[in-house]
Amino acid sequence: MGYEETWRRSVDDPEAFWGEQAALIEWHVPPTRILDASNPPFRQWFVGGETNLCHNAIDRHLATRGEQLAIVAVSTETGVTREITYRELHREVNAFAATMTELGVGRGDRVVVYLPNIAEAVFAMLACARIGAIHSVVFGGFAAHNLALRIDDAEPRLLICADAGMRGGKVIPYKPLVDAALRESRSPPPHVLVVDRGLDPGMPLVDGRDVDYATQRERHLGTTVPVAWLESNEPSYLLYTSGTTGRPKGVQRDVGGYAVALALSMTAIFDLRPGQAILCTSDVGWAVGHSYNVYGPLIGGCTAILYEGLPTHPDPGIWWRLCDTYGVRTMFSSPTAIRILKKQDPAWLTRHALSTLRWIFLAGEPLDQPTYDWLAQGTGKTVIDNYWQTETGWPALSLMPGLDLKPVKPGSPGFPTFGYRMRVIDDATGQDKAPGEKGVLVIEPPLPPGCLTTLWRDDERYVRSYFGHFREVLYSSLDWAVRDADGYTFILGRTDDVINVAGHRLGTREIEESVATLGAVAEVAVVGVADELKGQVPAVFATLKQGVTDDPGDVARAMERRVVELLGGVARPGCVYVVSSLPKTRSGKLLRRSLQALMQGADPGDLSTLDDPNALEDVKRAIRRGP
Ligand code: ATP
Ligand code: MG
Repeated sequence: MGYEETWRRSVDDPEAFWGEQAALIEWHVPPTRILDASNPPFRQWFVGGETNLCHNAIDRHLATRGEQLAIVAVSTETGVTREITYRELHREVNAFAATMTELGVGRGDRVVVYLPNIAEAVFAMLACARIGAIHSVVFGGFAAHNLALRIDDAEPRLLICADAGMRGGKVIPYKPLVDAALRESRSPPPHVLVVDRGLDPGMPLVDGRDVDYATQRERHLGTTVPVAWLESNEPSYLLYTSGTTGRPKGVQRDVGGYAVALALSMTAIFDLRPGQAILCTSDVGWAVGHSYNVYGPLIGGCTAILYEGLPTHPDPGIWWRLCDTYGVRTMFSSPTAIRILKKQDPAWLTRHALSTLRWIFLAGEPLDQPTYDWLAQGTGKTVIDNYWQTETGWPALSLMPGLDLKPVKPGSPGFPTFGYRMRVIDDATGQDKAPGEKGVLVIEPPLPPGCLTTLWRDDERYVRSYFGHFREVLYSSLDWAVRDADGYTFILGRTDDVINVAGHRLGTREIEESVATLGAVAEVAVVGVADELKGQVPAVFATLKQGVTDDPGDVARAMERRVVELLGGVARPGCVYVVSSLPKTRSGKLLRRSLQALMQGADPGDLSTLDDPNALEDVKRAIRRGP
C-alpha cells in the first residue's frame, strides 16, 4: 500500500489501523481497547494493555540479536568509543536498575537524569523504564537554577549525574551545579547517584547522600531485575519543551502508544530494518534524542550511534567518517548543526565513501534552501525535512522513504504521518484556508499514539495551551503553515512570530529568508516592534559570516533593500542591527521573544533555556547604539 491509502486508513479508521500496529511491539497483556476518546481533549491508546519500554528495547532482542551492537557511544571529547551489544546493554541496565531499586526507587517515582551524551544516560533511562520509574532528563549543562526548577516540578526520588561534561576540550564540572541546585530546591531527593568519569579530580561529595555508580555497578553486575509491566497509559517520562515561546512545558509521555508509534516510524519513516544503523546527532536531553538516540532504534533492533562532541572536532568530517565506520543507513540531525558544517571547507563532504548512507533527516527548525542545497548537493544523498514538536514525540510531517518516497520539495517537511489529520485554518474564524493561504497548523483529535498525554500535574495548562484556541476541539501546533496545491505543507514560523504592518500579516520567517539570501549574512532573526503609524514594523538582527570585512552599515542597508526587493515595501524593516551573535535556546532555536522584549524595553521573560547570556548583552549594546 502506498502513502495515500495507508495514511487515509490511519485517520479514517484509527482503531483498526493502530490495532494492527500494536503487533509491532511485545505485550505482556494485550490491550482490551485500542482507543478511549470519551474524555476529550484527553485520549488513551491501547487501554488495558501491559507492556514495558525496556523489555521491547532490550529483552525481546536477546534471543535473536544478543551479540549485535545496540549502542556505539562515541566521544571525540575523551577520545573513547564504546561498542555495546544488546547482551551487554542488558547487563548494564540491570545493574543500573538494581542500584536504583536499592536506593528506594520504585514504580511511579521520578528520577532526574542530568548526564552528558554518554552511554550511562541510555542505561539510566532504560533502567527507569525497566522498573516503571519516570525519568526526567535535563539537558546536561543547564545552569543550577534551571535544574532546581525541574527538580521542584518532578519531586524526584533520585538524581543521577556525572562529575563533568566536556565541550570543545574543556571540562565542565556538573557536580557543583547539582549541589547548588539541590541547595536551592524545595524537594531535593535523598540520594544522588554519581557517574564519575574521572574528569574532575576535585569533585565534591556529600557523605550519606552521594553514591558512587561504579561501586554499585560492580556489586550488581549479573543481577537481573524483573521488568515492571505497566498499563499502556501510565507515564513513562517527562520532558520539557525548549522554552522558545515561554515557560517550558512538562510534556508527559505514555508507554504503549509511544512504543508502537516509534516502532512504526523506524520502518516507515526512517527506512530502518533490524540490524541496520542510525546516527542521530542529537543529545539524549532533547525529544529527538529520547526517540531516536534511545527508544526508537532499540525497539527497532537497530544500532544507535551516540555522539558526544563538536561536529567539527577532530575535523568536520567526523560524522561522515562514523557513517562509513558503522555502515550507517539513516542519519538524523538539525539545520543548526548542518549550518555549522557549512561554514567549513565543503571538501569534507566528499572525502568519505558514504556507501551505506541513504537518508539524511533534519528537524527542529525551518530548513532554509541554501543549507538544503549545500547538504544535498555536497553528499548526493536525499535530505528529508521533518517537522515535529517535543509534544508529538515523533515526526508529524515527513516524507516516508520506508513506505513510498514522494519527491522532495525543499523547504517543506511534506505530508502528515500516520494518524495525523492536520488542517491549516484561519486563526480568527477557524475556517480552512485554501491552498497557498497562510493559517495555523492544527491537528484534529484524537492525537495519535506517541503524542503527549498531558502536561505533568497540570491538565489545566495542557487544555489551555493546546486546545484553548479552537473551542477545545483542535490541537493547535502554535505554528503558521501553508499548503501548496500538491498537498505539501510549509512551516512559516510560530504563531507569536507574526508581524502586523498596517494590517498586513508578515511571517518573520519570510523576512528572515529574504535577508539570508545576501552572501554576507550568516544568521538572521526578525521580530516585530511597535510603530505609531503602522502598528508594527520588522526589526532585523543579523550576524555576518566569518571573514566578511564589509562595513556593517553598508550590509545593513543592503539587507533593507533586499527585503523590499523580495517582499515589497510593506515589509521594509524599521531598523537593522548587525550583532556578533544571536540569542538561542540550548537546542539551537532563535529566541525571538527575548529580542522583541529588549526592543520594547520589556522584561525578556523566561530565559532559563538561553544558551549564551552574552548574546543578549551584545544585542542590548547594539540597541543602545542605535541601528
Ligand atoms: P516551547 O514550546 O517551549 O516554546 P519549542 O517549541 O521550541 O519550545 P520544541 O518542541 O523543541 O520546543 O520545538 C518544536 C518547534 O520547532 C515546532 O513547533 C516548530 O516551531 C519548530 N520546528 C520543528 N521542526 C521544524 C521543521 N522541520 N520546520 C520548521 N519548524 C520546525
Ligand atoms: Mg513549542
